[in-house]
Amino acid sequence: MTQKYDVAVFGSGMAGMCAALQAARAGSRVLLVERNPMPGGTTTSGGIAFPGLFYAWKKQIISGIGWELAREAAELSGEPLPHFAEQIGMQDHPRYQVRFQPLVFAMLCDEKLAEAGVECCYHTLVARTRREAERCWHVELTMIDGAHEVEAKILVDATGDGNLAALCNCRMNRASAVQPATLSCRASGYDPAALDQEELAQAAAAAVRDGRLRWTDLSWNACGYSGQFLEQHGNNSNHIAAMEPHTAAGRSRLEIEGRMALLRAYRFFRARKGLEKIRFDFGAFETGVRESGTVDAEKNVSIDEYVSGTLFPDAVGYAFYPVDLHESTPKGVEPRVLREGTLPSVPLRALIPKGSNDLLVAGRCIGSDRLANSALRVQATAGMTGQAAGAAAHLAAQEDIAPGALSFATLTALLRESGAIVPEQPQL
Ligand SMILES: Cc1cc2nc3c(=O)[nH]c(=O)nc-3n(C[C@H](O)[C@H](O)[C@H](O)COP(=O)(O)OP(=O)(O)OC[C@H]3O[C@@H](n4cnc5c(N)ncnc54)[C@H](O)[C@@H]3O)c2cc1C
Repeated sequence: MTQKYDVAVFGSGMAGMCAALQAARAGSRVLLVERNPMPGGTTTSGGIAFPGLFYAWKKQIISGIGWELAREAAELSGEPLPHFAEQIGMQDHPRYQVRFQPLVFAMLCDEKLAEAGVECCYHTLVARTRREAERCWHVELTMIDGAHEVEAKILVDATGDGNLAALCNCRMNRASAVQPATLSCRASGYDPAALDQEELAQAAAAAVRDGRLRWTDLSWNACGYSGQFLEQHGNNSNHIAAMEPHTAAGRSRLEIEGRMALLRAYRFFRARKGLEKIRFDFGAFETGVRESGTVDAEKNVSIDEYVSGTLFPDAVGYAFYPVDLHESTPKGVEPRVLREGTLPSVPLRALIPKGSNDLLVAGRCIGSDRLANSALRVQATAGMTGQAAGAAAHLAAQEDIAPGALSFATLTALLRESGAIVPEQPQL
């Protein structure tokens, strides 16, 4: 028998979590499908447990479910929240990200999903989709125990890669060269202050010359030694070239190359004085992908709209982060900060694939150009778009209309009731 849902969410990263919780808390019957064994996506399995940015110019600009998850995970992890009142700009943006233990976040997510009545399928991938009628999708899932078909009125693609949207024949914008990815680990067993950095730099240069090492194994710097890996204990400190990371072949190559990069670094360090006992423990069990493509949406946010802080008439939330395109350069990334007071917004139309009546996207794959996406992809924004997609999916399923045809006032009222900050439109 096919099981029927109002809303089916694919991917349980920050975006999928917020979408599923919002739709379920509002009363929808929700299925959450995740290919990994735990919720959290890049935040947990990618080891990037430091979401940004909830505050801008000393004011909270993103709240709602993403903030609830991040704040409670920080409290449970015993990590103090940043002093947001100090934050006047974004020069030093990493200081204003919320920090917590990835496993604590995953445990909390499971608890919240259970409380909200979301049905979760881990270790599950979507194989095929079939649209029988308006608001009637049949989705074939590949599960540990075989294929299962479910039915849902509205689908939400929160896969980061837009894989569900692509299976539903939505047009994707995929760059031929994407930003490098990162495989984080937890390096211990040494004292960074006791290391001879000069000797390390010389040894690294020799290892790079004879092919035992690549500069990007040790830092984001593609052209020299910076000490980043050892200072950061392996956290978010390498660059792995990514090609088509949204495909099975591309993703497999990436995971193998990520571990090869760590192996080269490990062998190099173990042969150095003071690093003989270095240990690499799991910090992440999958390579974190920064970019794989975006859906071609009813509105694709452009970099000009992002940096000028355009307030869209259908803005569902604010976003705030430097333009942050990682590249193979000496610095690896040169964040471009926003002008003082600038507050970009995200329109509902960026969550609606062009021409779609019953599919929404949330998180990293929302409609945006490459540069705008390099800022919009971060976790606070992913959560905000997830909550907006969850609210729109719930209302569209209840009213049996396309998300784009919803009353914007009803949507924003539900979001505000659920704790989200929605930009006020200027009074005419
Ligand atoms: C190395 C690195 C450093 C970063 N640094 C920061 C930072 O400092 N601050 C910050 O805020 N953000 C940072 N980001 C960006 C941010 O972490 C991600 O862009 C964000 O977490 C994306 O959230 P998401 O929910 O859209 O996608 P994801 O977190 O990628 O979640 C997608 C989920 O979908 C699942 N999935 C994928 N395909 C399928 C499928 N077909 N079926 C079922 N499930 C599927 C995945 O397993 C995953 O759980 C960083 C990213 C990386 C990679």
